[in-house]
Amino acid sequence: MLELHEVVKTYVSGDERVRAADGISLTVEAGELVALYGPSGSGKTTLLLLAAGILRPDSGQVRYAGRDVGAMPEREAAAYRMHDVGIIFQSFHLIPGATALDNATVKLLGRGAARRDARRRAQPWLDRVGIGSKAARHPAKLSAGERQRVAVARALANEPRLLLADEPTGNLDSESGRRVLALLAEICHDQGLAALLATHDPAALDFADRALQLRDGRLSEAPPQRPAISEAP
Ligand code: ADP
Ligand code: MG
Repeated sequence: MLELHEVVKTYVSGDERVRAADGISLTVEAGELVALYGPSGSGKTTLLLLAAGILRPDSGQVRYAGRDVGAMPEREAAAYRMHDVGIIFQSFHLIPGATALDNATVKLLGRGAARRDARRRAQPWLDRVGIGSKAARHPAKLSAGERQRVAVARALANEPRLLLADEPTGNLDSESGRRVLALLAEICHDQGLAALLATHDPAALDFADRALQLRDGRLSEAPPQRPAISEAP
C-alpha cells in the first residue's frame, strides 16, 4: 500500500546538512499499524511528511497504491492528501471556536461537502471514537484525550486509506494515550487502513502490528527494545 524505497532526504540550513532520511525502505500494508519508533531528531516526522507528499525525497521512491507520491505535481499531491490520507498530530490542531462535530467536518467541507451533509457523515465518527455525546462541546470543554479523539474523527471522516499519526500520544497522560493507541489499532484493523505511527512512546509498541526502530535517519535491523521499567522509589 505505502512503500518507501531507499529514500534519502537531506535538510540544508546555512552550512549544516542533516540527512534526516538516510536510505529508508519500508512498507505498510492495508489493515496494518506500523510504529516508527525512535528518539527525538531520528527522522520520524520527516518520513511522515514524505509519505504525505509534503516533502519530496532527494532520491529513492515514495509510492502509495502504485502512485509515485514523491514525483506528484503539487496539485495532485494536495488531492492525494485530501482524498487518500488522514493525518493526526501531537497537538490536535482543533479550531477553538468550533464544536467537536464541526471540527470533525473540516476535511469534508474542504472537499466541498455541504455543512449538513458533512455533519451527518462526521457524527458516526465521533460515536466511533467514543465521544458522540460530546459533539456540541468546544475543545476547551474536552479533556486532552477527548480532543485527540476529535482529531482522529476529523482525520477519518472522509475515509482515507492511509493514516499518518505524528506523536499522537505526545500530549496525553499514559492512560488516555493507551486508549488512543488502542482506538487507532482497532480502527486500522476494522477499516483496513494502512497506518504509520511515529512515536517515542514505548506504549505504542504494545499496539503496533510491527515496529521499526529509527535512529539518525536509519532503520535498524533489530526490532525496538522497550526501555527497562525503573523501579518505583
Ligand atoms: P523526529 O520527528 O524524529 O524528531 P525530524 O524528522 O523532525 O525527527 O528531524 C530529523 C532531523 O532533521 C533532526 O536532526 C532535525 O533537526 C532535522 N530537521 C528537521 N526539519 C528540519 C528543517 N526544516 N531544516 C533543517 N533541519 C531539519
Ligand atoms: Mg517529530
